[in-house]
Amino acid sequence: MPLTIGMVAHDRKKTALARWAEDHALVIGRHRIVATATTGSVLQAARPDLAITLVKSGPLGGDQQIGAMIAQGELDVLIFFPDPLEAQPHDVDVKALLRLVLVYDIPAAFSPSTADALAASGLLDADLELIHATP
Ligand code: PGA
Repeated sequence: MPLTIGMVAHDRKKTALARWAEDHALVIGRHRIVATATTGSVLQAARPDLAITLVKSGPLGGDQQIGAMIAQGELDVLIFFPDPLEAQPHDVDVKALLRLVLVYDIPAAFSPSTADALAASGLLDADLELIHATP
């Protein structure tokens, strides 16, 4: 069964996420991808063959939409590249998203090396049915 993978990157990390998605396109292309609006359009430009569902831009509520998907058991994995060196206007939304990742124990990666490790774990290969943690 395909997983639903959330993908989000802050502006200066979007290129890194697009590169990661290109490197792992065969694997992630087998799953549903949901991305915040600007991240999703960058990913789509890099890999037009990937089907990506867009939610709102992060600062306009997209992070909260992804968080709501987690709370409803609709998101299996999160690949989120935040920018640790730039203040974000929607910092509270970012915190709320990270909190829900922990509450529901969603497998998540926050940088290219941890996303590589997550991909290498086999989690995205197998037709695994992920059991969501209940808080
Ligand atoms: P964006 O949102 O993909 O619309 O830029 C990402 C974010 O800043 O959370």
